[in-house]
Amino acid sequence: MNFKDYIRVIPDFPQPGIRFKDITTLLKDGKAYQAAIDSIKELVKDLQIDVVAGPEARGFVIGAPLALALGVGFVPIRKSGKLPGETVEASYDLEYGKDKLAVHKDSIAPGQRVLIADDLLATGGTIATATQLIRQLGGEIVGAAFLIELSYLDGREKLAGIDCRSLVQY
Ligand code: IMP
Repeated sequence: MNFKDYIRVIPDFPQPGIRFKDITTLLKDGKAYQAAIDSIKELVKDLQIDVVAGPEARGFVIGAPLALALGVGFVPIRKSGKLPGETVEASYDLEYGKDKLAVHKDSIAPGQRVLIADDLLATGGTIATATQLIRQLGGEIVGAAFLIELSYLDGREKLAGIDCRSLVQY
């Protein structure tokens, strides 16, 4: 399946100059969504994964079904102030803006092998921060999986040492 046929590119959103990759057009198609999750599962099948972690909101849309397909649990990484239990938190820069991520302190056990999942790798800031939080809890990052990678933003360089795998590249 050519997944790019299902991803809509919207110019100048949310700011002039940004060509936003809109995955809602893929998600609403059951066959394309299923095939994307199956294909990402194939991409990571050689990794030993205890749990998948994904940042809100689109990281949930990829990470949770991927976790179920792999037969492991899912850990939500949320924006600051949303999780009810004790958290660890960290700030980071986005491709456009700034944000703060949080994860429950008891969500990852020391030594657990964690795959991070998100819809899109841009500058790598989101995943660098997620990685920092998971490592702070003693988790081991075995890799990061994405539906889309914006290769021209060199997010991989920021994530040096993390095994990044993506289904579609621009
Ligand atoms: P990064 O932290 O710069 O790698 O940005 C990745 C995050 O920004 C992901 O969680 C995406 O959901 C979001 N993002 C950045 N650019 C786009 C885009 O073109 N389409 C959809 N999401 C994007």
